[in-house]
Parts: sequence; structure tokens; C-alpha cells
Amino acid sequence: MYMQKELLKVTDLKQYFPIKGGFLGRTVNHVKAVDGITFHVNEGETLSIVGESGCGKSTTGRSILRLDEPTSGEVIFNDTDLLSLSKRKMRSVRKDLQIIFQDPYASLNPRMTVRQILSEAMNIQKVVPKKEQENKILELLDIVGLGAHQIDRYPHEFSGGQRQRIGIARALSVDPKLIICDEAVSALDVSIQAQVLNLLKKLQREFKFTYLFISHDLGVVRHISDRVIVMYLGKIVEIADKKSLFTNPQHPYTISLLSAIPSPDPEKKRDRIILKGDVPSPIDPPTGCRFHTRCPFATEKCVTDVPELRTTNLMEGGHQAACHYLEEIKEGIMQPT
Ligand code: SF4
Repeated sequence: MYMQKELLKVTDLKQYFPIKGGFLGRTVNHVKAVDGITFHVNEGETLSIVGESGCGKSTTGRSILRLDEPTSGEVIFNDTDLLSLSKRKMRSVRKDLQIIFQDPYASLNPRMTVRQILSEAMNIQKVVPKKEQENKILELLDIVGLGAHQIDRYPHEFSGGQRQRIGIARALSVDPKLIICDEAVSALDVSIQAQVLNLLKKLQREFKFTYLFISHDLGVVRHISDRVIVMYLGKIVEIADKKSLFTNPQHPYTISLLSAIPSPDPEKKRDRIILKGDVPSPIDPPTGCRFHTRCPFATEKCVTDVPELRTTNLMEGGHQAACHYLEEIKEGIMQPT
């Protein structure tokens, strides 16, 4: 049987940001943005991380790339332990790990033309000899659906969707293995979103890219993913292949997120589950299950005991969720309050 290679393996990753206070500016507390998450990304797949703002999904992407140095954990990329690399070695590995940001305008230097933006990345990583760069840039523009006549234009001369295509071309310019898309289509109009998502999928088919796709938008995640991680307040609460997650969600948080998506079939109306209150602060997260302050099924046990990710006989193919009462909720033995 063909075994998929794990291109990225993240183990017990933590990212605590210190909060300074008092007269001496000492660390008085921490924002526990990511609090001990473990997952892997297979070569050639799209793994999405979804959750509300503040759940730690973007911090996870930045921590993997060491744009923010993680507090602890292990990140193995293509058999290399990234967190043990010197800054210089990390820079050379970064060629294989690219990121596309949400705001294409903010991430492109407004004083540089497209030619300069793309050749800058190639020069830093020395992937293409200087005399071949022009051809490579023209090829990249063609791949992302831009024209050769646009090579000497500045970012402000492009639309939002076109700017995101430049961001994609920049990521591709160094022949990466893994591309982290951090809310990469969130700033775009819906029709442009679809174009950019289709472009990402086409590039994946052609060049076998691996994507870690970070988004708050379940509709977008459903379109692009092979597998999905749901995060809540710095923790993974559910992980599954796309079909299992969308047809057989287990965790009450995932069920509530999915219940908010309008069903395309009016016959299949879902009962909307409205969560109580707002997401608590990651400075002082709730004890036990972090979701207990908003969960309609919470019991005393949920306040004290941390649920681990686990599977049940109602789940298939690597599907896991972190809740004490998966069976009782699915079988209707427990009802929401
Ligand atoms: Fe809700 Fe308790 Fe399950 Fe957490 S462990 S999701 S609070 S029922």
C-alpha cells in the first residue's frame, strides 16, 4: 500500500506571548495563543486550519516558519528539525516553505515593480541564475494568469485579486514544497476568491504543492481542503478528512460552526446552534475543556478535566475530536441546555 509522506510534523507546539507590566516591565502573564498542538501535513495535500479570530490558527503558521519564535515544541519539515536550526540555516530552508498573506497590498513593496518583487525573492534564495530570471518571471506571470505587459507595473496598478496573484507568483518563484496560505483569499470579493482558490488547486495538481490553508471561512475550507483541523482557543478540538468533518462533525464547537453555514438544500434545514458569549481570553483560558463556558452540553467534569483528542466507533479514517461526551452527544443521550 502507498504510504503518504509526512512533509511537516508539528508536535506539542506552544506559542506563549509575554505580557509585560509594572514599573520594571517584567513579564506578568502570557497570552497562550497556541497551547500544545500536534498534527502533520502529508506531501501533496491541503490541510486547513479553521476557527474564529483569536483561536491561534495564524500564530500556528507564523510559528512553523519561526516568524514568531515558538515557546516550545517540535517542528519537523522534510526530516529537518526547524526549531534547532541557526537563523542562517533557517533562511536557506525558508525557500521550501513559503507564505501567502491575507492582505496582498500590505505584503508587496509599493515601490517595487512586479519584476523587482519576483527577482528579489529569487536573488535572496539564489534559485535561478540572473540571466534566466527574465524568462522565469514571464513564466510565473503566465502561470498565475497575468500578462508579460504587466511586468514593470507597480502593485497599486493592480486589482486586489491580481495583487494576490503576484503574491502567489512570488511564493512560487523559489520552487517551494509547502505553501502556508494565511487567510489568503479573505480580503477578496467572493467571485475573485473562487478564481484564486481554483488557481491554487490547479497549481497543486500541476506542481504537487502541499498547502497549509489557514482560514476562518468554512465555505472556503470546504472548497479547497483534503483534511481539516478545527481550533478553539489555542487547542485542536477536531481533526478529520473533509468529508467526515462536514457530514459527521463530532465536537459541539464544530457542530455549531457548521450549523451557521446556510444549507444549499432547503429541504435539509439545519438547526442553528447559537453559542453563548464570546471567545474567552487566551490570557486566562477556562480550566478543563476550554469550550465549557460556551458549550450547551457542559458538565462539572468539563470544568475540571481536559479532554484529549480521541476517536470513537462513530468516526472513521483518522477522525478525532476532543470532548468527554462524543458518544452521548451523537447518540442523543445528552441534549443541549
Ligand atoms: Fe462541551 Fe464538555 Fe465536550 Fe467540552 S468536553 S465540548 S464542554 S461537552
